[in-house]
Amino acid sequence: MAFDFDLIVIGAGSGGVRAARISAGHGARVAVIEESRAGGTCVIRGCVPKKLLMYGSAFSADAEDSAGYGWQVDVQGHDWSALISAKDAELDRLEGIYKSLLANAGAELIEGRGTVTGPHSVDVNGKTITAERILVATGGWPQIPDVPGLREHAITSNEALDLPACPESIVIYGAGYIALEFASIFNGFGVDTHVVYRADLPLRGFDADIRTELAVALADRGITLHAGCTISEVSEDSGSKRVVLSDGATIVVDQVMAATGRVPNTAGLGLEEVGVALGDRGEVRVNAASQSSVSSIYAVGDVTDRVNLTPVAIAEGHAFADSAYGGRPRQVTHENIPSAVFTQPPIGSVGLDEDMARKTHGDVDVFVSKFRAMKNTISGRPEKTLMKLIVDRATDRVVGAHMIGPDSGEIMQGIGVAIVAGATKADFDATIGIHPSAAEEFVTMRTPRAD
Ligand code: NDP
Repeated sequence: MAFDFDLIVIGAGSGGVRAARISAGHGARVAVIEESRAGGTCVIRGCVPKKLLMYGSAFSADAEDSAGYGWQVDVQGHDWSALISAKDAELDRLEGIYKSLLANAGAELIEGRGTVTGPHSVDVNGKTITAERILVATGGWPQIPDVPGLREHAITSNEALDLPACPESIVIYGAGYIALEFASIFNGFGVDTHVVYRADLPLRGFDADIRTELAVALADRGITLHAGCTISEVSEDSGSKRVVLSDGATIVVDQVMAATGRVPNTAGLGLEEVGVALGDRGEVRVNAASQSSVSSIYAVGDVTDRVNLTPVAIAEGHAFADSAYGGRPRQVTHENIPSAVFTQPPIGSVGLDEDMARKTHGDVDVFVSKFRAMKNTISGRPEKTLMKLIVDRATDRVVGAHMIGPDSGEIMQGIGVAIVAGATKADFDATIGIHPSAAEEFVTMRTPRAD
């Protein structure tokens, strides 16, 4: 059968664009369908604008810290709309780059909403197009729990990046990556920031010591943490939002943001109708080659709900393209993926947390270093840096590294290489430190913590 294309990609985000342009580079005839803007979550409404706002908000703490170094800084306030305009201009530039990446690779970008109508066919703008393979790369979307008034009155991270004015106060619901990064952003801009979450500690899934230290640091920076709480009701009264908590407290704020997780974007895509198996959260169920239960339909990135990070989607998209069109079948490993949480202070992490390491390896040695970063001594900021290495006693391999403190995200990338390469604690010990730095602590921790 003659198809219109070799590959139709639905979704021009990080994973879809990578898969499309590498496939086209291997000689495939590729169409990419996108209903919104090229670039997807990461570029348009996630990592990139979030980090630009984070950089913007961090200057207030820098200004405070500079006083200890003799600077006399008189901060006159912040022009929110100037920042949003600058951010928007940067996103326009990046969207243009994404479009030209596709065009230069020879992939055709079709603007519209794609709906799968068969194992080889997709409807877009009222027209059916066909391909030997279909790749679903539609990402995820914020989910808001069913709490009275929450859906009507809360924004999500999508809107938080485009607010016409900076609120004076905000309640953020949830304590995952998105909630805490936005809490740090708003707090840095002087917003009275409350974080409401049901667990005892923020950031489930991270090492317990890091979570504990993070809670202390966020509170020290002025964020009010409502641990062990849920939101019972949200209502609006003359422009203000009243948030009732499960502990009986009521907080009145300008803005409420739900950051209570994301769900895979498969609703209305036609996948189940053509026999693609979906999981409980609506994710496309795929094998290690990113192939769904329909052999011509593949999926990569957040829509598969494996590890929901941009570089993972990119790696999955690239591996798909090399396997399908490059004559180089390969799979992506989902172990030892470094990640960072761009809170203030930031967190970096790779490998197993202490609990998981004990469950997986039994006997482990844990090395911990907690200190005040040199910059904070003169500035007077009390915040502590915490670093942790977890070592499998039987093999001496480092199976987890975790850090909270300045530059954690940057430092952890290199540690990630070592861990992926199977470095032992002896290798870390044999590495000379960079002095004076915080990072050198990772190669100078000598005494394991007593069990
Ligand atoms: P997360 O899953 O990380 O966090 C969701 C938060 O919402 C948790 O605190 C969770 O609580 C809470 N929650 C979920 N459901 C409910 C509910 N019904 N009622 C009350 N609270 C609830 O999701 P995010 O939206 O923060 O991030 C989505 C994904 O995006 C992340 O997993 C990450 O992979 C990616 N991401 C990565 C970033 C990075 O690399 N820096 C930045 C931003 C996002 P509990 O823990 O108790 O379940």
